[in-house]
Amino acid sequence: MTNAKVLIVEDEPALIETLDYSLRKQGYEVLTASDGRKALDAARQQTPDLIVLDIMLPGLDGFEVCRILRKEMNVPIIMLTARTEEVDKVVGLEVGADDYLTKPFSMRELIARVKANLRRVRIDREEATASATQLVAVTERMVFGDLTIDLSRREVSVQGNVHHLKPKEFDLLVFLARNRGIVLSRDLILERVWGWEFDGGSRTVDVHVRWLREKIESDPSDPQRIVTVRGIGYRFEG
Ligand code: CA
Repeated sequence: MTNAKVLIVEDEPALIETLDYSLRKQGYEVLTASDGRKALDAARQQTPDLIVLDIMLPGLDGFEVCRILRKEMNVPIIMLTARTEEVDKVVGLEVGADDYLTKPFSMRELIARVKANLRRVRIDREEATASATQLVAVTERMVFGDLTIDLSRREVSVQGNVHHLKPKEFDLLVFLARNRGIVLSRDLILERVWGWEFDGGSRTVDVHVRWLREKIESDPSDPQRIVTVRGIGYRFEG
């Protein structure tokens, strides 16, 4: 597979430089645009695999750019926001961003999000290709050995025995499974499964993981599927 192409849309030269350097170091091909118009041109002509899009831009702002691109392409968009009010708008206006990061953020965090979003798109594409060649709609099911997650029925079965999960337990399992092999921090899990208005704290994640393990692990005290990554969070082993 060729290196993924990332378009950075940002008007602060110092931040462009840092993002450009960090992403190239990870092996990505990087394109940059410093305003909304240039971003639209670059996205249309270069068809990037992912876009990192700042909200405050001269001319067309990030919200407008996101709204326009959403109608034209499926590329994952990570928005960069400077304030919490902007974060509210990302959700409130439903501009169609896939993810967001609040400034200031660490390059490590950004790269983790870029990887997770590219991975998600790749999985979606693989599933789409697989379902086009099979009679069974594989997009509705995820199978890991004797564990089956039925997305349309929201049911989980282990060795053929169906387990009834609470809504958040199910969402958590699907999120972990979609990002299998990736270490996911408690904060990221909280944000993606519970939403970022939730203030329950990361203890919530641990409790739900414990419940899930009781249902899907053959020995919950020695988990093989949802593995604890000390000091960070969890990783799903597919
Ligand atoms: Ca800006």
